[in-house]
Parts: sequence; structure tokens; C-alpha cells
Amino acid sequence: MSSGDDRHRRPPPRELQHRRLTHRFVPIIPDRLEPGVLYLALDYGTATHTCCCGCGEEVVTPLTPTDWRITYDGETISLSPSVGNWNAACRSHYIVERGRVIPCGDWSDERIAAERQRDCGTKARYYSELAQGPVEADDGRAPIPSQQEIGRPERLTPLTRWREIARRLFTHSRQ
Ligand SMILES: [Zn+2]
Repeated sequence: MSSGDDRHRRPPPRELQHRRLTHRFVPIIPDRLEPGVLYLALDYGTATHTCCCGCGEEVVTPLTPTDWRITYDGETISLSPSVGNWNAACRSHYIVERGRVIPCGDWSDERIAAERQRDCGTKARYYSELAQGPVEADDGRAPIPSQQEIGRPERLTPLTRWREIARRLFTHSRQ
């Protein structure tokens, strides 16, 4: 025990037990998750896995324009931005790059708080713009469909889903 260092220090994040995530496309996320597997329920816009440190904590990463996005290269999945399990005891932080799990550094509480605030602002802007509908071009031409609207089956358009989310967000928000 060092008497010279009285600063509060957190224990370092746990060593990651899983350095690879295989992916599994599923219709719905199963109740029991296999460690080391990234489950992708695209109809629900959700990716889920158990924390790569091995603590067993379930990590849900919603796939939305303001949350996470996946890249599927036909063999592996990349997930971005990084996954920070700040609410779990382990505080694991890593990125998933082409199926590999790469540890990232621990974040200070200040940085986490700042990131959450930034995220709230991004979501509020995004959903309020969506709630106002597509923006008409000034010259009277038809609005350009967003990337999400192109090539998606009707009932699964993210825009429909976001509208529903936005409606809930703004109906139930504590303002
Ligand atoms: Zn963990």
C-alpha cells in the first residue's frame, strides 16, 4: 500500500475473455445468450451480446442512426462506435472490428457524462427533424429520399420505426 498516493483510483478494467465475436443473424434475440456470439436481430434493429470480459452482463446495442451501426463484409461484423459497459461493474470498453474484439481505454466519469449529453442532443435533433417529415427542396423538386428509405421493404422502413420512437420519446419525456 502506497501512502504517497491518496487519489481515488478505480481498478483497471478486466482483461477481455473473448477476443473474437462470431455473429449470428436471428429473427429475435434468444433468452439465453452464448458468450462470444454477437446476435443480430435486424428486424428489431438490435444487436446483443454478453460482455466480452466474461462477466456475463448482457450488452444491447440498438442499431439506429444515432446509436450503433454494423458493417457486414459477408464474413465478419464490425460494430461502431465502441461498446462501453459503463453501467456494468467491469466497465469494459472495446470495439468490434471485423469480428475481433479490441480493448479500448477506460473513460473518466466526466468523459462518460459528456458523451451521454452529446448523445442526448444528437437524438433530440435527429428525432425532431424526423418528426417534421422530409425536407422539401427549395426549388420545388421532390425531396430526396434518405438512405434509410431506399430499398427497404415497406413494413420495415426505419423511418416508420423512428417516427414511432420519436412519438414515444416526445410524448413521455419529462419536460
Ligand atoms: Zn464485463
